[in-house]
Amino acid sequence: MRAIAVERGDSQPRLIEKPRPEPGPGEALVRTLRVGIDGTDFEVIDGNHGGFPADSDHQVLGHEAVGVVEASNDTDLEEGQLVVPTVRRPPNTANEYFRRGEPDMAPPDQCLERGIDGAHGYMADYFTSPAAFLVPVPAAFEATGILVEPMSNTEKALEHASASRSAFDWQRDAALVLGNGPLGLLTLARLQSEFDRTYCLGRRDRPDPTIDLIERVGATYVDSRETPVTDVPTAYEPMDLVYEATGYAKHAFDTIDALEQNGVGVLLGLPGDDAFDVEGGRLHRSLVQGNKALVGSVNSHVTHFEAACETLSALPDWFGDALVTDVFEPAAVDDAFSRSPDRIKTVIEFGSR
Ligand code: NDP
Ligand code: ZN
Repeated sequence: MRAIAVERGDSQPRLIEKPRPEPGPGEALVRTLRVGIDGTDFEVIDGNHGGFPADSDHQVLGHEAVGVVEASNDTDLEEGQLVVPTVRRPPNTANEYFRRGEPDMAPPDQCLERGIDGAHGYMADYFTSPAAFLVPVPAAFEATGILVEPMSNTEKALEHASASRSAFDWQRDAALVLGNGPLGLLTLARLQSEFDRTYCLGRRDRPDPTIDLIERVGATYVDSRETPVTDVPTAYEPMDLVYEATGYAKHAFDTIDALEQNGVGVLLGLPGDDAFDVEGGRLHRSLVQGNKALVGSVNSHVTHFEAACETLSALPDWFGDALVTDVFEPAAVDDAFSRSPDRIKTVIEFGSR
């Protein structure tokens, strides 16, 4: 079968041939329809994040997939059912996080991540998975099912952010998303139903497809070159929720200044080891006197995938088409992994139903 993989010592993903995987006990065989590309894939290719499966000279990429059950094997899944796989798998034997059904809460050294860290991903004609890690999705998700995994990360992040505000009557009107990449834009669309006013921060000139999308969902575009995060409260308003999806480390601290009294900032970006000065005392005081919270959030699990399906079903029809700007066949791997400002979300299509 075809697979898109990075080989050890190489810095480019390539189309390779490899044997179709055989499902083991409790696993189903899934025929891949589509796989999304995101910022994490580029970090994996560049060797800045994750790592190869221990026993392999290559890593199959891809963690945002939708496929159809080809062989249910001894599982309860139905053949022909559309499914989206979760990302995390137990390293050797299941540990306490997996036993509790909370692999998203495991430290990095107690889980593998398919397509990212220590396990092959889904950019191949077929993949196998334990049924417990395959989330059934509606038949209408053939094209947009690749958005379930990224949206599930947002579902988890917002669940944790809200939980940190659950001890009192949290008044929330205004939300700011930092970052106009696919994750930021998905989240911005998600927040429309919950907040009266939404903002999204980027660093692009017009015309730009992400700015068009920001305005089309009904949000305000904030250019970080004119209005840095710390100036947002005076230029616009203080925010009840800030969702960080830039991976720019300073934004974690700037978020404290952007928050309204009793607000919460949730951090998703994965920066490198940047070092810089912060006004620690002032920010500490602002967190305390403002009853503010900063929450980090990574990955997601089955309940978040299910919530993401509901969220995506409720978004306007045009949104998925506007977000997924490019669809390539596996053979066009070089084009698929080239970057361009006209692109928002790129997808590789292995097949159709
Ligand atoms: P992208 O890299 O595609 O998007 C990041 C966006 O932030 C880009 O549009 C970029 O603008 C913008 N940006 C970066 N720095 C600044 C800045 N200083 N001012 C204004 N805008 C800025 O990534 P994704 O959308 O896929 O993901 C966002 C982040 O979340 C990444 O760090 C990713 O690793 C992380 N992530 C975390 C997950 C989790 O579970 N915690 C899950 C998925 C992703 P431009 O394009 O113009 O450069
Ligand atoms: Zn992703």
